Amino acid sequence: MINTIKNLDFEEIQEWAVAKSLKPFVGRQIFEWIFQKGVHSTAEMHNVPKSVKEIIDAEGPLLLLDLETHEISDDDSSEKFLFKCKDAYAIETVLLRSGNHYTLCVSSEIGCAMGCTFCKTGEMGLKRKLQAGEIVEQVLLARRISDKKINNIVFMGMGEPFNNYDEVVKAATIMNHAKGLNIGARHITISTSGVVPYIREFAHLPFQFKLAISLNSANDTKRSELMPINRRYPLEDLLSAAKYYTIVTNKLIFFEYVLLKGVNDTAKDAHELIEKLSSIPSKLNIIPYNEIDDRFKRPGEKDIQRFLSHLENVSFAVTLRYSGGRGIRAACGQLYHEVMDS
Ligand code: SAH
Ligand code: SF4
Repeated sequence: MINTIKNLDFEEIQEWAVAKSLKPFVGRQIFEWIFQKGVHSTAEMHNVPKSVKEIIDAEGPLLLLDLETHEISDDDSSEKFLFKCKDAYAIETVLLRSGNHYTLCVSSEIGCAMGCTFCKTGEMGLKRKLQAGEIVEQVLLARRISDKKINNIVFMGMGEPFNNYDEVVKAATIMNHAKGLNIGARHITISTSGVVPYIREFAHLPFQFKLAISLNSANDTKRSELMPINRRYPLEDLLSAAKYYTIVTNKLIFFEYVLLKGVNDTAKDAHELIEKLSSIPSKLNIIPYNEIDDRFKRPGEKDIQRFLSHLENVSFAVTLRYSGGRGIRAACGQLYHEVMDS
């Protein structure tokens, strides 16, 4: 755990200030410097007295990530940042453009423990969880480096957000805070592979964050093969938690479905989806698989359209999403990085 006040939320930094015999408003000021203005050091905090700067500096660094590489795709639709953490692990963050809108896909962990068989990040195993400050800093740095106004955040980079629930929720809260990054809660989406207890807990958060669930199959046998977490929390538990979430929050839930050629793209798969999802206020997002090795194949355009044709006139909305950034290996499921030399 890196010691830094960058892991403190708006309330905690005021408590920290009081504990240091400072006024709570000084804590609020520091929070604004760090998260609203995105400063990298106390030297940039113009209205903070030197004595206070020394107290802040004694708490550890304010810059937790170093930019290692920054790649921009040929068509300018995506940018990938490789950031090195203080312990020399690396994480990837991806900026995706759609018209004038920019969405940042942030990582929540270094690697991932869930071991989904189609996902490159899953191959890494879990190295460690990210701290809230490291998660938020991905946004601050991507914003500064790209000079783009980032209006949407998706927790769909490396890691399982609900395996690092407290830090992820804290990071989302700081991103949303009016004195922080001021990104609307409805523009922040957290995606989980299906950690059921946290789906239920998430339903009771007093924020309008969106929830996405990576479904990938509506058949237990198949889903367990693709996503080992399904053995722990099978579809019945997962979908009842999803329904619970929609009832408590009165919001839709987003299901993600990575389409794998010959694996989950048949008429039967579509019918199982209809049967399971019809009673849940939801949207289904079909993502054609991005190939990472030869274990799974991306379906062709015809296969994709055929699968979609089975999902016409259903009670939930169905969308097709081509994840950007394939050319620079920045698309869904392609994020992967070995430990870097320090
Ligand atoms: N761990 C979380 C969030 C990160 S993964 C989760 O699983 O929900 C983000 C999305 O990328 C998930 O929906 C996952 O199913 C999808 N994905 C993983 N590998 C992929 C690949 N190779 N091609 C397309 N989508 C992929
Ligand atoms: Fe982890 Fe999500 Fe990849 Fe599964 S799909 S291994 S949960 S990052």
